[in-house]
Amino acid sequence: MKPRKLIAGNWKMNGSLAANEALVRALVQGVGAEGGCDVVLCAPAPYLSQVQSLTANSGIAVGAQDVSAHAQGAYTGEQSSAMLKEFGVRYAIVGHSERRQYHGETDETVAAKTAASLANGLTPIVCVGETLAQREAGQTEEVVKRQLAAVIHVNGHCISEIVVAYEPVWAIGTGKTATPAQAQAVHAVLRAQLHHAASEHAAGIRLLYGGSMNAANAAELLAQPDIDGGLIGGASLKAADFLQIIAAAAR
Ligand code: PEP
Repeated sequence: MKPRKLIAGNWKMNGSLAANEALVRALVQGVGAEGGCDVVLCAPAPYLSQVQSLTANSGIAVGAQDVSAHAQGAYTGEQSSAMLKEFGVRYAIVGHSERRQYHGETDETVAAKTAASLANGLTPIVCVGETLAQREAGQTEEVVKRQLAAVIHVNGHCISEIVVAYEPVWAIGTGKTATPAQAQAVHAVLRAQLHHAASEHAAGIRLLYGGSMNAANAAELLAQPDIDGGLIGGASLKAADFLQIIAAAAR
């Protein structure tokens, strides 16, 4: 069965108490009328409880942008999945390319963070994607399959509980979107890999596209057979744009 579409906003390191309040109030009002897809806001850690309060009873879920691979202990600066769960957080982005690039996260770290999320009932949004150099070298398929294989290897049949986000690194924050055909081609590869690992559950695993998705291009991307939603950075900070993407997913 086709899963319900999921639109996730990744605010990255943006926001303030005042700006968040204005944005979330507008989204709660706008989504109230919509309701045809799942929506999650991945806010910076200090604002998670603010966003949790503002979205209470709205149907909008809250997500973290990262989670520790460890359960507890001497890991200064990190937040465990149990802590996030206590604050009503339901999703965690794992292995975003900015974490891989600036924080040295490896495929193994990403697999361990996925396991830590699942252990406490958080839904990990596992990011995979190739760089421009890898695409130009014809390595796209090999790279995304390797990244996802590490997660499958550690998490086994539990991967039926994850969300996967295909985010070509060259499309993130650049205004360059993968064409719907380019995105669909990679999503089909990922679906086949999930099918191999999780057989009958694979069709229900949500595969999001991320990389300069916006109000103008969302509908065409979301119409592809293996694109089950979006992970949206820049456009998730503008209520009107984000609501248009949600409306496109709800159609
Ligand atoms: C992202 O940060 O995951 C992302 C897709 O960003 P943008 O939409 O700005 O390209």
